[in-house]
Amino acid sequence: MATWSFGRSTTVPPWTRRSELPALVVCITSVPRRSVIKNRNRNRRERIFERDGHRCVYCGLSYPADELTLDHVQPRVRGGDHSDGNLVACCRACNVAKGGEAAWAFLARRPDLRANFLRYATAVWPRLRRAVVEAATD
Ligand SMILES: [Zn+2]
Repeated sequence: MATWSFGRSTTVPPWTRRSELPALVVCITSVPRRSVIKNRNRNRRERIFERDGHRCVYCGLSYPADELTLDHVQPRVRGGDHSDGNLVACCRACNVAKGGEAAWAFLARRPDLRANFLRYATAVWPRLRRAVVEAATD
């Protein structure tokens, strides 16, 4: 909690008694509001779709934004994060086909889709692109 007296800001510990506080108290919180988080997620979707040219990086086809999904190249359950370098634009059909697999495991059996991925997913972290190349069996 921060309080101002005559324009000066001070931070008081949370256990400060109410009677010890000045008349005007402004609470500053660092926890983003739900609307801010929602907006941030929408911005991220739009940013990634824009970056990938509204193209599914697996089948290589173009789609309007409402038919695209965000795909985690390295799934969250396998240690992947929400960073832009782990996210790609992906159509619904490819997202369903890929399921919970890591992109390199999925693409190891699909050379046609792997070629698309290496061509279009240029903003993906280099280590993830390397994993796709190294997992190829053909
Ligand atoms: Zn696709």
